[in-house]
Amino acid sequence: MKGIMIPSEVLTKEKNIAVIVAHPDDETLWCGGTMLLHPDCNWFVACLCRKNDADRAPKFKKVLEILKAEGIMGNLDDGARQRRLDRKAVKRVILELLPKQSFNLIITHSPFGEYTRHLRHEEIGRAVIALWKDKKIKTKKLWAFAYEDGNKEYYSQAIKDASIYQTLSQDIWEEKHRIITEVYGFQKTGFEAKTTPKSEAFWEFENPKDALNWLDKKEIENKET
Ligand SMILES: [Zn+2]
Repeated sequence: MKGIMIPSEVLTKEKNIAVIVAHPDDETLWCGGTMLLHPDCNWFVACLCRKNDADRAPKFKKVLEILKAEGIMGNLDDGARQRRLDRKAVKRVILELLPKQSFNLIITHSPFGEYTRHLRHEEIGRAVIALWKDKKIKTKKLWAFAYEDGNKEYYSQAIKDASIYQTLSQDIWEEKHRIITEVYGFQKTGFEAKTTPKSEAFWEFENPKDALNWLDKKEIENKET
């Protein structure tokens, strides 16, 4: 399904929402504005890496309070070498961290990532879609983050022709930027602060088949270019 929809309209009925991300900061960067706009939804953030990170883990908890969300962290390998993870292990950790299997909406990484390039983002996006296909998790809709950085040409930007695209108000963006710089403590001149998108976008899927077809089509396009 294509066309611009504003999350404030879509989310009125979507109450139980799981956000499944790689790192403490991904929830804020890629959907923090959407979360801030909808404090009445039941947000649960599963962050798969950095549970034992003495710096980031406590900050993640503070951010959850600001975003009015519950959440949990896992300890998937996140070393600098970014070795590819076993697909089954990624799926197992997701299932272990989610408090239940059924949601109105799941928001997660794109299997193509949000910038060039972080393997964990891509692996997690793929694992969530695979779990949905195998009926290990249920959701009425899945939103994959829709961002790209022009192959490192610029900081990640929301994709305008994604299913859902919303430009944030200055207030909401400033709150997002404050979380990144003051709560997580990233430098204002650093990658995270400079990236913090002013618009948020998502690819929306209503069933796993559509998500997998989209994945195949994109992979073919990527090979051709
Ligand atoms: Zn990340």
